[in-house]
Amino acid sequence: MPIETRTDVAELDLPALEAALAALGRPRFHARQIFQWIHRHGVADFAAMSDLGRDLRQELARDFRIDTPAVVKTERSTDGTTKFLLRLRDGKLIESVYIPDHPIGDAGPRDPRSTFCISTQVGCAMRCAFCLTGKMGIDRNLSAGEIVGQVRVLARELELLSSRFNIVLMGMGEPLHNYDETMKALRMLGDEHGMAMSPRRITLSTVGVLPNLERLATEPFMPNLAISLHATTEEQRDHLVPVNRKYGLVDLLDACRRFPLKRRQRITFEYVMLREVNDTPEDARRLVRLLNGIKAKVNLLPLNEAAGIPFERPSDDRVDRFARILADHGVTVSVRKSRGRDIRAACGQLITESAKAKAPGQQMAALLGAPVISHAAKP
Ligand code: SAH
Repeated sequence: MPIETRTDVAELDLPALEAALAALGRPRFHARQIFQWIHRHGVADFAAMSDLGRDLRQELARDFRIDTPAVVKTERSTDGTTKFLLRLRDGKLIESVYIPDHPIGDAGPRDPRSTFCISTQVGCAMRCAFCLTGKMGIDRNLSAGEIVGQVRVLARELELLSSRFNIVLMGMGEPLHNYDETMKALRMLGDEHGMAMSPRRITLSTVGVLPNLERLATEPFMPNLAISLHATTEEQRDHLVPVNRKYGLVDLLDACRRFPLKRRQRITFEYVMLREVNDTPEDARRLVRLLNGIKAKVNLLPLNEAAGIPFERPSDDRVDRFARILADHGVTVSVRKSRGRDIRAACGQLITESAKAKAPGQQMAALLGAPVISHAAKP
């Protein structure tokens, strides 16, 4: 493969694109046009940018490229949820999920709009005990262009470029373990010349990488926050969410208590329910106490079971009983209806096998009893 020397403009935010145009001796308003073509119209070819002169288009194509994740495969669930397997420039594979008319996060049931569930890393380093993605381990961070690229591709494929939708950073990876690129991606998504997403339509979900949660609290472009809590004692959380050994539950909740929220905004606490592990009435009562003083709502996620995950999903009765205790103590609670389970697109079920990461891939295939994907990844 020839060595690529062209700059990928999909990685550039508007100020950087303006600087790149200035370096060519071109006026900055062209940067705005290009940014619009890419991010608002989903165009990945300079030749199609019809309001730019022919010379400029040729010059751009010589110096720049526009990387866009390639769709390898889509799988559609009976409930309409669609999982996209995407290939990145270096052959790595990630998954993104389209969830029709099903708001998660702060947009709430008042505003039923479809949601894009986007990845921030190839794999994940957090190794939560019940999560399949965690079994992959971490391969690498996604770049801002790759994070935004997933949104562009889904919007284009689903013909939603001119519609509004929600974004949840709940795909593969831990967004606060890839802080800079994730925040750059959010700013690009919010840019008025691009998709102009409101931060209120974006939810960042995290296990609570504390130093970066503190940084997030100071960001001007502030998404909704969801915390993957999953446990009510340090000991239990150490086991289920290993990062807790470094950034403990009590400190995490203190940071949440200090987290700046707008009027009527609340932090969502996700709580995966594992039968006879964290689903008892005592857990529910402890959860109530822990959330005291936090503008919170709780989202219960009955476990999506999978081979290789050593836990079971509790009965609906146990889930209801748990929810009722929270509600009786004035805690807003919802039970997440799991979507796309038939295509393994539900929470914690995103997993890919990369061409180069054979070992963990084979390990997973063995666990799942079948090849995860049959496609060979070619760069
Ligand atoms: N790393 C971030 C983003 C992933 S969000 C985070 O952990 O918040 C995915 C959500 O699905 C998390 O709350 C995660 O804990 C949850 N999840 C993972 N595996 C699951 C499973 N098997 N069943 C239900 N929820 C699961």
